[in-house]
Amino acid sequence: MKRILVIHTGGTIAMEENHETGVVTPKDENPLPQISKQFETTAKLILKQPFLLPSPHITPKEMLLLKELIEEEYEKNNLDGVVITHGTDTLEETAYFLDLTVNLNIPIVLTGAMRSSNEIGSDGLYNFIASIRVACSDSAKNKGVLVVLNDEIHTAMNVTKTHTTNVSTFQSPQYGPIGLVTKRDIIFQQKPDKSEKYAIKDINVRVALLKAYSGMEADVFHSLHQLKYDGVVIEAFGTGNLPPATIEGIKKLLDAHIPIVLVSRCFNGIAQDTYQYVGGGKQLKEMGVIFCNGLNGPKARIKVLVALSSQIKKPLNEVFT
Ligand code: ASP
Repeated sequence: MKRILVIHTGGTIAMEENHETGVVTPKDENPLPQISKQFETTAKLILKQPFLLPSPHITPKEMLLLKELIEEEYEKNNLDGVVITHGTDTLEETAYFLDLTVNLNIPIVLTGAMRSSNEIGSDGLYNFIASIRVACSDSAKNKGVLVVLNDEIHTAMNVTKTHTTNVSTFQSPQYGPIGLVTKRDIIFQQKPDKSEKYAIKDINVRVALLKAYSGMEADVFHSLHQLKYDGVVIEAFGTGNLPPATIEGIKKLLDAHIPIVLVSRCFNGIAQDTYQYVGGGKQLKEMGVIFCNGLNGPKARIKVLVALSSQIKKPLNEVFT
């Protein structure tokens, strides 16, 4: 029988709705460990609940704790797979953090729910069962950290929450899911070709994430400099451009050796140094802004956090090539 580590961390999947007010709140007791009993004939589940938090409360500190827990249990229990239940709001960030930092080839699957445990059409139990099945599947090995909801399998790198309430909220823009969960099978139709790993023991840096807007000025960049941030990710316009009034602030940060990583605020397409005007991608790249493709802003920020905290230091422009 496969040995699967199940880590419950909280989120809507572990919450309940008050039918009179419609308000969703954490329960005193997580209903999932009880439910897990019905899997006893399918897989040997090793249950852990290191914390029970709504996912907006999760920080890189909890992400690191999950990484350590997985590695520790892998050593102890000779695991075949891992399933983590998590709130959907920051699920993609935790998934990508683990993708970058856990160096194991067993399936590691994150799942959650859009409807709490006692709501009509609740998707938690279904997603949990699907995730256990994926974690037990040999075909899910060596594919990096996976996100399974609504019968789809996504990579941690590409997946993002796209809808506030719809159960099909998790999508991989541009690429689509890499696999499907059917009634009988776990089917993969793509194989991720990239695997990057960083050895980290703690997270000791602060990285901010900004989104470009028309009329943006240098003041926010000056504030980040004063606040002594260690790095900045900016979601720039289109192919990678910013308003001219930001340039002075960008220069200030770069002169102080605070790295700036740029992604596009568009969720499809890639950022490139195409435009030559004040604030255009050409100028930004020449100034030393690092262009990042294939990640959204929150995940580029996770990568900067991890790379700057890594024990083997690599220049950030090499991290993002
Ligand atoms: N706000 C909830 C959370 O992320 C949403 C969810 O779990 O779907 O904890």
